[in-house]
Amino acid sequence: MSFKDKVVIVTGASSGIGRGAAIHLAKLAADVVLVGRNQERLNEVKQQIIANGSSEPLVLAADVTKDSEKIINESVKHFGKINVLINNAGMMTEESIENVTMEAFDKTIDVNLRSVVQLTQKAIPYLEQTKGNILNVSSTAGLKAVPNLLSYCVSKAALDQLTKCSALNLAPKGIRVNAINPAAIRTPLYKALGIDSKAEQELFDSYKSHYPMGRIGEVSDTSSAIAYLTGDSASFLTGVLLPVDGGALTAGYD
Ligand code: NDP
Repeated sequence: MSFKDKVVIVTGASSGIGRGAAIHLAKLAADVVLVGRNQERLNEVKQQIIANGSSEPLVLAADVTKDSEKIINESVKHFGKINVLINNAGMMTEESIENVTMEAFDKTIDVNLRSVVQLTQKAIPYLEQTKGNILNVSSTAGLKAVPNLLSYCVSKAALDQLTKCSALNLAPKGIRVNAINPAAIRTPLYKALGIDSKAEQELFDSYKSHYPMGRIGEVSDTSSAIAYLTGDSASFLTGVLLPVDGGALTAGYD
């Protein structure tokens, strides 16, 4: 599989799933745009990519909720085109319908959903030129309810419908739109819930014990699924929501 001469924008490339996908796609010869707010961590990813012998990526320190125009315009200015948009940037907070504040709800929707609408809209003319594609990083939480992750579940369920509606809309333009729906993947995401390393390990162990494959996911699992869906070998796939979950959903877990 090769992404030679393909320009790939990865949002949330400073950490976790986005970082892994960017490094993996760069190894497959993609020209990568690294988007996130933390310039220092983006620069570390850039150095890692260069150290691997891959082409030098473009670092764009940007907030997906505010800077969609800058992200698309700077990418085109630098590389001349866009082949793939990976909407991965996201956040998770813990709350239920009983205690969620509208401020927290709006923030999650803004980052996980609204930003994707904006970036998608602005990328369409460029993706039409290249017959490119979009990959949204959703979650098993889009497909299965988790009561204490209210805003997160709602944002990912809506992202799944955004993926499918956009896929139908954009197919006549030759643009594919797909999503992956990962279960628990070992990334810094869970630390943002305010848990310490011990609690994090206990959480991962509890997932591990009920996931059919007997382990939680690793960034390499999402990277390879993202490469497949955004690559040429998936040229007849659009509107797909692909669980990357070790069988968790099939077994009734999230
Ligand atoms: P991380 O916390 O490791 O990474 C989150 C990334 O999102 C960071 O690079 C962060 O960059 C970026 N980000 C957050 N808010 C913004 C913003 N406003 N503008 C730009 N970038 C932003 O988490 P993961 O890698 O785990 O999560 C990536 C995606 O995967 C998310 O959409 C998440 O919902 C999804 N996912 C994760 C699962 C898991 O178990 N880990 C399971 C299922 C789905 P910066 O701080 O530099 O802005």
